Amino acid sequence: MSHDIKNYVAGQFVTSKKLFDDINPVDGSLVGKVHEADKATVDNAVAAAREALQGPWGMLTVTDRAALLEKVADGIDARFDDFVAAEIADTGKPLSQASSLDIPRGSANLRFFADLVRSARGERFEMQTPDGAGAINYTVQKPLGVVGIISPWNLPFLLMTWKLGPALATGNTVVVKPSEETPGTAALLAEVMHAADVPAGVFNVVNGFGPGSAGEFLTTHSGVDAITFTGESATGSAIMRAAADNVKALSFELGGKNAAIIFDDADLDKAIDGTVRSVFSNCGQVCLCTERVYVHETVIDEFVSRLKSRAEALRMGWPNDEQTEIGPLVSRAHRDKVLSYYELARGEGAEVVTGGGIPEFGDERDNGAWVQPTILTGLPENARCVREEIFGPVCHVAPFSTEEQAIAMANDSVYGLAAAIWTEDMSRAHRVASQIDVGTVWVNTWYLRDLRTPFGGTKLSGIGREGGRYSLDFYSEPSNICIKL
Ligand code: NAD
Repeated sequence: MSHDIKNYVAGQFVTSKKLFDDINPVDGSLVGKVHEADKATVDNAVAAAREALQGPWGMLTVTDRAALLEKVADGIDARFDDFVAAEIADTGKPLSQASSLDIPRGSANLRFFADLVRSARGERFEMQTPDGAGAINYTVQKPLGVVGIISPWNLPFLLMTWKLGPALATGNTVVVKPSEETPGTAALLAEVMHAADVPAGVFNVVNGFGPGSAGEFLTTHSGVDAITFTGESATGSAIMRAAADNVKALSFELGGKNAAIIFDDADLDKAIDGTVRSVFSNCGQVCLCTERVYVHETVIDEFVSRLKSRAEALRMGWPNDEQTEIGPLVSRAHRDKVLSYYELARGEGAEVVTGGGIPEFGDERDNGAWVQPTILTGLPENARCVREEIFGPVCHVAPFSTEEQAIAMANDSVYGLAAAIWTEDMSRAHRVASQIDVGTVWVNTWYLRDLRTPFGGTKLSGIGREGGRYSLDFYSEPSNICIKL
């Protein structure tokens, strides 16, 4: 049954005359009608966020703020099934993933940053002065102010709360713009915030698109102090330009074209299991997913043939079926993009080892946004399919002969988000890992995240790092106080 998804501004659920459709990519059915925020609604959200900073929220102690975040996390857990259902309706991802990753990580993000901010510490420096009495400097951390959070559709709740947790923990107020494809969980979170008595204006949600819509209204707004964004690199550039006039603080988690390197001494069972996960998880729609696989020439034939069997065995099914391993892409528009790369690969001379098309179900799923898991070989390293982010369940597998060559191939990208290395030789693991120019290198695993560690990308994959104290550093600013004794 479809429903209305409203904006949440100054503690009120706000409607709009302009509505757009939220479509379920499993079967093309209507999830809901979304109220698109106009400029006035975004202005009201920013004004409410500013007012809350100066009002009750700004007066709260760190302890009280952290306790309120935990109350919100409890509220999410209490409505766990609603959140899981909303995430599945918007994305089509399997229940097994939404209920083990997306939603639990959402409330965990809030608890983690509530904990962390309680034990955060400042700096203190003693200095000598000519009169011999000396002086003491110490820092106090202050929130940035009003933070705009712009999030993507691939892990909507997890990635929104990853930014929301530290932003609120450090005392900011926020205006969230979820992706137009996946507004459901942000709307539910507004209900949870409301029920938890989070002061009006601390958390606002504005729905809409990027250019000419809520995204642009937020990034160009003079009342917004910082923008934290996850999405495509090209969108990051546009936001950077929009934010330049007011010199807003920026944190960007952007795209990737991530490499996996499989050495001849790798445990192939582990490497294949890991590569199936890193290529096909969330239908290839994780920024960290592997799209370039480099395999030592002596094991590449066995690797490709086993990866092919595993890709063909992946069960595509209804999200609530416990057997389902892979869902659809997020939308028909995104499927058009992925299929255009499948076509381009053929044009560029690729061998399509498996996949390359659309699966047929003979039921309502044929109205959805499904694509086949796909493995390509035979492309030169300068082919567009090897250089550009596709963001679907697809990889290109190429051989290498020496360690130096594998490192050079992995680094030959405008992106620098993540890499996975598969080897049983730990000296090699350390040696190679430190030479890969990315924000995160995994050895004999993939997407294993400790929330205390820095997360982000080099080159076109982002600006800054979030995670643990890196998040606290971005979402607050030190103010130095110098006392002459
Ligand atoms: P996207 O850039 O199209 O959209 C992301 C968000 O930005 C949406 O809310 C969208 O409405 C908004 N937006 C678009 N144009 C805008 C503009 N001009 N001004 C303001 N807001 C604007 O990204 P997507 O398609 O939703 O997500 C997929 C992309 O995100 C991939 O490139 C993926 O690699 C990247 N991603 C990166 C990370 C990371 O941590 N590095 C994580 C997840 C996804």
